[in-house]
Amino acid sequence: MSSSKVLVLGGGIVGLSCAYELALAGFSVTVVDRNQPSHDQCSNGNAGMIVPSHFVPLASPGMVRLGLKMMGNPSSPFGFAKPLTFDLIKWSWQFAKAGTKRHVARNAPLLLALNLASRSKYQEWASRLGTFSVKTGGLLMVCETPKALHHEEEGAAEARKLGLATETLTPDQVVELDSAIKGDLAGAVHYQDDAQVQPEIVLRSLRQAISDLGGVLRSGEEFREWIIENGIVVGAETSLGTIRAETFVIAGGTWSSSLTRPLGYEIALQPGKGYSFVIPPLDGKVQPKIGAILVEARVAVAPLVEGTRVTGTMELGAWGSDINEQRLEGIKESFHRLYPGIPRQALVQKVWQGHRPCTPDGLPLIGSLPEHQNVILATGHAMMGMSLGPVTGSLVRDIVTGQLSRLDITSLRPRRGN
Ligand SMILES: Cc1cc2nc3c(=O)[nH]c(=O)nc-3n(C[C@H](O)[C@H](O)[C@H](O)COP(=O)(O)OP(=O)(O)OC[C@H]3O[C@@H](n4cnc5c(N)ncnc54)[C@H](O)[C@@H]3O)c2cc1C
Repeated sequence: MSSSKVLVLGGGIVGLSCAYELALAGFSVTVVDRNQPSHDQCSNGNAGMIVPSHFVPLASPGMVRLGLKMMGNPSSPFGFAKPLTFDLIKWSWQFAKAGTKRHVARNAPLLLALNLASRSKYQEWASRLGTFSVKTGGLLMVCETPKALHHEEEGAAEARKLGLATETLTPDQVVELDSAIKGDLAGAVHYQDDAQVQPEIVLRSLRQAISDLGGVLRSGEEFREWIIENGIVVGAETSLGTIRAETFVIAGGTWSSSLTRPLGYEIALQPGKGYSFVIPPLDGKVQPKIGAILVEARVAVAPLVEGTRVTGTMELGAWGSDINEQRLEGIKESFHRLYPGIPRQALVQKVWQGHRPCTPDGLPLIGSLPEHQNVILATGHAMMGMSLGPVTGSLVRDIVTGQLSRLDITSLRPRRGN
């Protein structure tokens, strides 16, 4: 056991997972976040899906074509913030270049292994803490057109080769599994290994568990600059004072570049902005029972404790907190098409927005900074941060303790040409 001090910058799912695993290993942990826990960080308000099914990196063949096709439609699930900045154009060029078949073949087994390890970690935490649960039952990839279903079946065949359990369902079988789905559909692929958590309850549980282990959680405190002595990072100046430590974890989500830049390390991260809203249980209406992704619309439907959370949209380069009403309408429209039993007026809810931290090659960034071995970067999880948070925590713990990880994560290391 070590009582060495670790400062974690960022209190989203990634920062809290790292802090919890390090606190369990005996480290003296402080987590600093510039915002209060309930604020609109990306880890609140997401769909909470744990996704072994998502083993294909975001940067993959066909994504650019699909993106370009959708760009013309202002209510489509994908778009770029305007005006296009130089950084966003550069990021997009790198994204287009990275998305090769070779990239997918090389990294799909790793993404799958990471998601499965994370699901196990969630289950371990849930039984140890007893404050949240992991809902099993899988994920439905619901397709409205035969073309989309065919494409999903091709993906499912790859998934089976990697050991995942999948089943193609006819429209009747879909309705049998979840009678809230009623619209005109071609069928669905059921990924049976996927699971779900309620994000806010997990975050609250982790904060409590870290604090029970003697960790310190400081909210409303912003990182300002690094303290470097003899070339070694020994502390951080924040808006509220100085914090010294032996090890530092940068888990600032989309904003992590502003923490690495002062150390001479640029990372290409762009926000992938998305929205969600919750439909509370409605008297006399059948609620969605099983997590689903409406494939053509890229909308996720998550039955949670508080009701049904509907999420969607990926607007790249959108840093601000404004809400794009046309894209929001697109989400509502698609949801209503497939869940017509829930009245349209019930979809007028408080809208949450979050910024997914997206790397150009679609892989997270996990590892020590090359010139500062005691500063570890943990970000870039894009649309899978909730799913991959726990495994990231244990990988970062292994890096800090010098243990060899069971997984080969060389393709996640920070210096890889992004
Ligand atoms: C609509 C939507 C749906 C999603 N659904 C899913 C899903 O179903 N499953 C899934 O796996 N993922 C999902 N995601 C993605 C997931 O939410 C993110 O990948 C994840 O939350 C990122 O976590 P994080 O800890 O890296 O970042 P964040 O949660 O953004 O946390 C970063 C923290 O760092 C703090 N910070 C930044 N800069 C500083 C500074 N200078 N000083 C102090 N603090 C700082 C911020 O305040 C913030 O709290 C979804 C995302 C969206 C938008």
